[in-house]
Parts: sequence; C-alpha cells; structure tokens
Amino acid sequence: MKTIAEIVKQTEFSNEDIIRLLSVTDPEEAAILQKAAYDRATQTVGNNVYYRGLIEFSNICTLDCRYCGIRKSNHNVPRYELDKNTIVEAAIWAAQNHYGSICLQSGERRDPKFINFVTDVLRTIHEKTVSPELPHGLGITLSLGEQTLEVYQQWAQASGNPIGLRYLLRFETSNPKLFDHLHNAPGREKGLERRYQALADLRQAGYQVGSGVMIGIPGQTLEDLCQDIRTFQKLDLDMIGMGPYITSDGADMLGEGMMEEKALMRLSLNMIATTRLVIPDINIAAATALHALEENGREKGILHGCNVIMPNITPRLVRKNYQLYANKPFIEQEPSDTNHYLQHSIQSTGREVALNVLGSSKHWKNRTGH
Ligand code: SF4
Repeated sequence: MKTIAEIVKQTEFSNEDIIRLLSVTDPEEAAILQKAAYDRATQTVGNNVYYRGLIEFSNICTLDCRYCGIRKSNHNVPRYELDKNTIVEAAIWAAQNHYGSICLQSGERRDPKFINFVTDVLRTIHEKTVSPELPHGLGITLSLGEQTLEVYQQWAQASGNPIGLRYLLRFETSNPKLFDHLHNAPGREKGLERRYQALADLRQAGYQVGSGVMIGIPGQTLEDLCQDIRTFQKLDLDMIGMGPYITSDGADMLGEGMMEEKALMRLSLNMIATTRLVIPDINIAAATALHALEENGREKGILHGCNVIMPNITPRLVRKNYQLYANKPFIEQEPSDTNHYLQHSIQSTGREVALNVLGSSKHWKNRTGH
C-alpha cells in the first residue's frame, strides 16, 4: 500500500488514493497532508487570501431543507429583511475597507418582488463602488439558491461587473439518496439533477461557478465524499465552499445527531486538503462553520489549502437570526473588529490578505483566458 507521503506527491489520484487521504487520523500523516495541501495552494494560486464580505440580507426562505435552522417551518426564528439602503451601505463599507468583493446571501425566494429587489440592489452597489481602487466596482458573489436562467442573466447584467461575478450554489452531497433525505424529498425524481442543471445555467449566464458540500452528514461515507470531489471535477467548478455538518436548533434533522467534534474537524480538514491536491487551481473558502467547531478553525482551513475568507459584515442586530447551524461564531463582533482580527490571524498562517482585488479563481482565468 502507498504511504500518505507518496500519495500527496502525485498530480493524478485514484479513488483509492482519495479515500486513503480522507481517512487520515494519524497525527504524522495529518501533518504530511496539511503541508502538501498548503504548498500546493501557495505554489498554484499564490500566497494571497481573498476577502468576500458576507451580507446575509434576509432569512426569509420558501424552502424547508431538513438540516437548516432557518427553514420555513421553523417558526421560532424572527424573520428579517434588510432594506436596500442598509445593504448598499454595508457594500460601501466593504469597498472603503479595501475588500475587493462581497457575497450577498439570503433564504431562497423566486417571487418577482424579490428578484427585482436584488436587481435594483446590484445595480446600485455597482454604481456606488466603482472607484480608482476598484475600477470595475466590487466583485459580487450571489448565494440566492436555484433560479431560472433568465433570472441569473438579469442579475448578471445588473451587477455591471462581468469579470467579478460569481454564484455559490452548493449541491451538499452527490449521493442522490442522501440529497433527498436532506431535502425531505423521498421519491422526488431528479432533485439533485435539478441542482446540477442550475449550475449549468449559471455557467451559461457567465458566472464564475461555485458549489460545495457538507462534510459529516449522518449516513455519509468516505466513498460519498470521494464522489463529491469527482463531481467537483466533472462540473468543472471555479470555486468551492464546503464545511462541516453541524446540527442546528429548529432543524428537522436535529434528532439524527452529528459526528463527534474532533473527528468532524479532522474529516473536514482532510476533505479540504484532498480537494486542493486533486484540483489545485480553484478557490476554496474557509467556512465559518470550521470556527464553530474549534477556535482558529478558519486558520486551520487556510493551513489546509483554503484561499478565501468570508468575513460577516451583516449588521450586527440581525446577524443572530441567520443561524443555519448552532454556535455560529462572530455574531457579536463589529465588522471593523473582525477586520483587525482576521488580518492578524491570516498572517499567522504565513499568508497575506489581498486588498482591493477581485480575487477570481485561477481555474476560471485558465478556463476563460481572462
Ligand atoms: S439551506 Fe437555504 S434554501 Fe434551505 S432552508 Fe436553509 S436558507 Fe432555505
């Protein structure tokens, strides 16, 4: 059998290699995997870590994902919706604080009022954030769920920044049975295929396409995670956001429990590092959920090959109501405190925060020639 040290030197990986990397628990082997992923990241995508200022502008959702703390059937969550001015002000704050990009996230809605509201917000953010430092305006990542191709196109046009336009739509798991279990869709044909179609539509509409999975879902196997990585490759993704599965109050799956925290952290870091080795030129976000499991969780993500961080710049008063999972960190921190803290902690990993840049993935640049 090959050793971990032998496997991490490869540039092509069999499923057996991937599963071996995902199953690492021995501290010496874990250190070898971590160093290899860190080196592969810095050699391929550089030493920079990019910010995406996260604005969670509404927790109103029409869906009922069983793992989620803000699903529509949880009536214990006060619902909120930020107005246009508040969202635009948060975006301007990000631009003034040298973030090159923001991410707009909300629960999933497909009604015309919502679609037009987002269009208007995007147009205004672009108008207000073009400057000598950001000649194309802020880069925008949208995380607003499954929409039609026409809606994706409408939002793309409104963003005014085709080279800094991204969409994050996680498929959560490539195992169709598990996907249906997560989404309360037993027997619902092709739920997962619909998600893949939405990702294809995003590509067609000109977005840099991001997706991802949850790690440690009850019933998920290492073979499933290996297939998730194969699916990342098949979808030719530009960026990946994945994090540990953490139960949430108000979620329908609460009773199914979750992995023991240390083991879950280990598996999550293995998944990040393995993905970096298999697909070296993508952007990988260090999920905030890593921090919910362990202090310095996001820094560990960077040490295992992540190159994107999403500081939460949502106004503090509503932030506590956007709890997709329990113990979400940074609920009480002011954005300016977060800035200071993050800059320091990223530098502690030997990497640098890149300011005033869009931070698009090298994979996208290679794919499109930009
Ligand atoms: S995961 Fe997203 S789409 Fe699903 S219920 Fe939660 S907020 Fe809504």
